[in-house]
Amino acid sequence: MDPLSPEALRASFVNCSKGDAKRMPVPSEAALPPASRWAELDFFGWRDPGHPQAAWMVVGGDVVGQGEPVGIAMKVSSAGSAGRKNMCTLCFTTHSASDMALLVAPLAGPSGRRGNTVGNYVCADLACSLYARGLKRPARAQPHETISVEAKVERLRANLVAFVRRVVAV
Ligand SMILES: [Zn+2]
Repeated sequence: MDPLSPEALRASFVNCSKGDAKRMPVPSEAALPPASRWAELDFFGWRDPGHPQAAWMVVGGDVVGQGEPVGIAMKVSSAGSAGRKNMCTLCFTTHSASDMALLVAPLAGPSGRRGNTVGNYVCADLACSLYARGLKRPARAQPHETISVEAKVERLRANLVAFVRRVVAV
């Protein structure tokens, strides 16, 4: 994806109020990846130690046909710890339960304000782009897969687009 400024990240959110977006702890310019690293990302995701129950991701590229990045605010759910999944629904990396998070995104618009959400088990560090490219090694040995890095990135991208489309209901 193309590099985004803190302001562009903050302006991209589609499923929270303007007030929430304003108060959101967006990384500073200095804390963002250097320009050369953005090309390795399908989305920029972050957590904040001051907000352990929240997670944010901004998906780059033309996800919903507007040519704009789409930001999705999520809550980290503590529900269902007994039956936790161990595979990321976006990048298909497997983790121990402690490295997985159930992230719950309110839907955009009135539907979300009525309490409707989409939940996904996702890599807790939101490093799916790096796992798919083999740039970060998961703590756990992975089931053998014969598909190429390109195919893994394409799969992640397709899963991201499907997720974003569910949130914005297009
Ligand atoms: Zn993942």
